[in-house]
Amino acid sequence: MLKGEAVVVKHTGSHYMLACLPDMNLFPAVLRGKIRLKGSSATNPVAVGDKVMFESDGTAGPENPAVITRVLPRKNYMIRKSTNLSRQAHVIAANLDKAFIVTTIDFPQVKLPFLDRILVTCEAYNIPAVIVLNKVDLYRETHKEMLEAFHSIYGGAGYRIMEVSALTGEGVDELRDECRGCVSLFSGVSGVGKSSLIKSLDPSLDPRVGEISDAHMQGRHTTTFYEMYSLASGGFIVDTPGLRGFGLMDVSRDEIALYFPEMLKVSENCRFAPCTHTHEPGCAVKEAVEEGVISYERYSSYLGMLDDETKYR
Ligand code: GDP
Ligand code: ZN
Repeated sequence: MLKGEAVVVKHTGSHYMLACLPDMNLFPAVLRGKIRLKGSSATNPVAVGDKVMFESDGTAGPENPAVITRVLPRKNYMIRKSTNLSRQAHVIAANLDKAFIVTTIDFPQVKLPFLDRILVTCEAYNIPAVIVLNKVDLYRETHKEMLEAFHSIYGGAGYRIMEVSALTGEGVDELRDECRGCVSLFSGVSGVGKSSLIKSLDPSLDPRVGEISDAHMQGRHTTTFYEMYSLASGGFIVDTPGLRGFGLMDVSRDEIALYFPEMLKVSENCRFAPCTHTHEPGCAVKEAVEEGVISYERYSSYLGMLDDETKYR
């Protein structure tokens, strides 16, 4: 009997494909009995990126899959809710080293409150986010001020920003370096060039294929399965088709500020605790906004999120 540790690379409904990374020789596996994760309402107890223990008689093949005996504790995971009303959730991926949030400044125009929601979600799931500004070839010269403002807002909030162009190849080598040795999530609204970017990282990948099957499966109300792709240059990526695939999280009202790193940093100086950073006297966050240390745009996204939580709860 062979025993070992492997990573779930693919999930096809009836079975899982495992690999002993960085070796990418996939072998099939099934779950032994019912493995349940404590406190999880997920439709999939085992997800791409999960580290598992398996047993096999050494001949693991399509007819003779290995058996997953245990799922090892996750360092983090990203979920997606089935629908807004349903409590059921689908785990997109586990054990992510970082999330690349692909965006543009224009073509299509970026919506900062939406970007902030994604960043808050990454913070809440404990996944370090890197902002990838794609299509810089289109707006670097024409939108100089907006580009500068963007750097000031998000660089100021502590985020790493990479300027890239899937079209010209600018910045793609750096992005490839950032992916090496990591499992990374790629996300972005449609049209920002996420697929083009993934293709430029590794021409053998075609994210469009997954997207078509995603749409197909959505229509049939079945679960979407995510896959981890190996980059020829090293590292693994999990593509989330559009932002529907991104688990925008419901964060409770009093938690939101914890997920704005720049607000969290100064909030210990607020006179009151807890402080909502809205009406309280002696609020260090409001002071920082007035002094321009925290950007007005980020603060106003925060207020918007507070407002939403009040409305929908
Ligand atoms: P996705 O929906 O985010 O996967 O976006 P696609 O990869 O399909 O790209 C959307 C459109 O933007 C396509 O017409 C691409 O050719 C174009 N595009 C993608 N990246 C770039 C870029 O860096 N510069 C320019 N000029 N166009 C790009
Ligand atoms: Zn405060």
